[in-house]
Amino acid sequence: MEDCIFCKIIKGEIPSEKVYEDDKVLCFKDIEPGAPVHVLIIPKKHIDSINDITEEDTKLIAYIYLIAKQIAVKLGIANKGYRIVTNCGKEGGQTVSHVHFHMLGGRTLKWPPG
Ligand code: AMP
Ligand code: ZN
Repeated sequence: MEDCIFCKIIKGEIPSEKVYEDDKVLCFKDIEPGAPVHVLIIPKKHIDSINDITEEDTKLIAYIYLIAKQIAVKLGIANKGYRIVTNCGKEGGQTVSHVHFHMLGGRTLKWPPG
């Protein structure tokens, strides 16, 4: 996706503070953190949103959670607790159309979110 900001981050055309990377996923710090720990975990495959996930993506999405728990250990929030959230569409608050998983932690999080 040529004008996708997250695809540009994956390609290194836009800088990011990388936390983890492999051939399938990238994790980097959110530019506007909403918590002491706020990283985004994204598949390297461009998928617009949760609405666009297909059966062929099921392994990839599960893999993101496997990596997420490792990142939580790395960032020191695994035992204290954290939240993983994906916004979808306008009312869901999605602003970047490349599916991503927010990992938030480092403080007690409120529920429900705004
Ligand atoms: P959402 O609003 O759920 O689509 O999440 C998009 C997130 O991407 C927001 O939390 C933004 O702060 C974050 N974001 C946008 N541009 C960048 C960037 N260049 N580097 C890191 N995070 C970004
Ligand atoms: Zn993209």
